[in-house]
Amino acid sequence: SSPSRKFPSSIKFSMVSSCPGVSEALKPDSKLQSDRPFISFSSLVPITPYLMSEWEPILKGWICSAVSVYCLSKYVPTVGKFTSIFASVDANRFTREGLTLAGLVLVRCAGSYLQQAFLWEAALNSAYRIRVYVFRKVLERDLGFFEGTGGVAAGDIAYRVTAEASDVADTVYAVLSTIVPSTLQIIAMAAQMLVASPVLSLMSALAIPCMSLVIAYLGERLRKISRKAHLSVAELSGYINEVLPRILVVKSNNAELCEVAQFQRFAHIDLTEHLKKKKMKSLVPQIVQVMYTGTLLVFCIGSLVVSRGSIDCSQIVSFVTSLVLLIEPVQGIGKAYNEFKQGEPAIDRLFDLTRFNHQVIEKPDAVDIDSVTGDIKFCGVTFKYGENMPFVLQQVNLHIRPGQTVALVGPSGGGKTTLTKLLLRLYEPLSGCILLDDLDIGDITLASLRRHISLVSQDIALFSGSVAENIGYRDFMGKINMEQVMEAAKIANADEFIQMLPEGYNTNIGPRGSLLSGGQKQRLAIARALYQNSSILILDEATSALDHRTEKLVRQAVERLLDNHTVLVIAHRLETVLMADRVLVLEGGKLEEIPPSSLLGQGLSNDSLLSSGLII
Ligand code: ADP
Ligand code: MG
Repeated sequence: SSPSRKFPSSIKFSMVSSCPGVSEALKPDSKLQSDRPFISFSSLVPITPYLMSEWEPILKGWICSAVSVYCLSKYVPTVGKFTSIFASVDANRFTREGLTLAGLVLVRCAGSYLQQAFLWEAALNSAYRIRVYVFRKVLERDLGFFEGTGGVAAGDIAYRVTAEASDVADTVYAVLSTIVPSTLQIIAMAAQMLVASPVLSLMSALAIPCMSLVIAYLGERLRKISRKAHLSVAELSGYINEVLPRILVVKSNNAELCEVAQFQRFAHIDLTEHLKKKKMKSLVPQIVQVMYTGTLLVFCIGSLVVSRGSIDCSQIVSFVTSLVLLIEPVQGIGKAYNEFKQGEPAIDRLFDLTRFNHQVIEKPDAVDIDSVTGDIKFCGVTFKYGENMPFVLQQVNLHIRPGQTVALVGPSGGGKTTLTKLLLRLYEPLSGCILLDDLDIGDITLASLRRHISLVSQDIALFSGSVAENIGYRDFMGKINMEQVMEAAKIANADEFIQMLPEGYNTNIGPRGSLLSGGQKQRLAIARALYQNSSILILDEATSALDHRTEKLVRQAVERLLDNHTVLVIAHRLETVLMADRVLVLEGGKLEEIPPSSLLGQGLSNDSLLSSGLII
């Protein structure tokens, strides 16, 4: 659909910027696009609770860093003393001071190691818990988040929850390992400098605000560039996730090269964005380094002061050593700030997934219903998917009594699947209400509502895993009842082919059940719904991929079993429709009931239903 598909073998990168899909996707989210204040730590707010609960390793890490800074501050006078020791050529003092210095170095190294170990523990633990929290929030989002025009690509979510969550750990570590240790080191060194020479100290201090401003400016630039780099990987990952599951279509259309070209386009954007980021990252320390040449000035002035004899040589050595050791943490803070700015888009994008307004909200006083008879009422239900979308259902009234089997027919795109989504409360009607056993489904807990409805959806969804796990999905985390699994499989006429699989019920059916044929997948999906054993069963074109004979067997079995269940069957076959007590036609958003006998009475066949447009 995009322009480059026409040029699979000669990709024109100049087209990249004009490609609508890509440039659109690279636009940052509206809220985050807005410029932040010059120095801002606002993105740390959502991760603060996670950091607070990691207070123990953080505290331990900071204590270790204090020990290590203490040792460092002890170096300075020791180093100063060496100047006078050299002058006096006192071997004993030299050995003593040398051993002290070695001891300090050892303790400092141990302290630094422990500091890093503890702070990584805190950073990775926080990222782990953030990751789990965000994934939970993603799964709790309304169905509308995943489908339709605004639907977020699975690959994008995957990238955020995997790679970007790791970036969050790096950022958190950079911040934790810098704030306290560097501040301590700055304070310690500043104290040493003040002792050595208050005048020179004050002069050096002037440089710090200037440097901070430059670092803050560069940090903001880095954040913006980083954000684009993050988006470009998300795009790439989203694209791969779109294509690979549809590899059969790609191959059968000989579209490999087109897809490679498409991939190359995304990859090239990623290249451009990352190159910009890396260049900026390489530039920042160099600029900061250049600013440090300012300290040379201190040397010049220092030598002037010494020549006038106001301080002695060992003081100036102490002073300069302290200054060098003070610059190190200042530089460290600058680097950490940039690291943080670079990781900020990852934090934003991750927590973006958790900020949303639910359309489907469970009331605090929603009731948990134990059992239902299966009485379903739609009262004047009107629905559309979005503000600018056409109405899918208009003033739909429907009453299905307990134990009834109702067939829902109508042209494709008529809104049959949508009606089932509303019953499951995956979307909220625009107006009207839906009642289950005379209770508004809005007053029932989502879990109990959905527990009482088994759905065999039109798009069969199987998971990589064993046959038994797929059928017993309801007890996914608990203990799957193998007897019930086999019983459900038998009713769905699936037992026979499952037994033929290499490891029977334990056979892994591959990604999305790719080991199985279309009809086999459908029978597994039916078995899964039967295993749920709910009072209400929805079969959304659940037998469309079955051959006539198998469909008949499944239908008869289901018919036998479901005398005491309420069944809503969306089907296109006359036979399936005829097994229903009632037939409803959904067309143009309106629901109309026709007596099933009238279908037979008029001598309608599959063909005539087809031509009448009633059944597709
Ligand atoms: P049916 O099951 O009868 O074939 P659907 O209920 O799937 O029809 O779809 C009804 C209409 O709603 C179609 O026009 C379809 O394009 C639209 N539609 C379905 N799902 C969505 C969605 N998630 N976002 C926007 N429009 C949708
Ligand atoms: Mg449908």
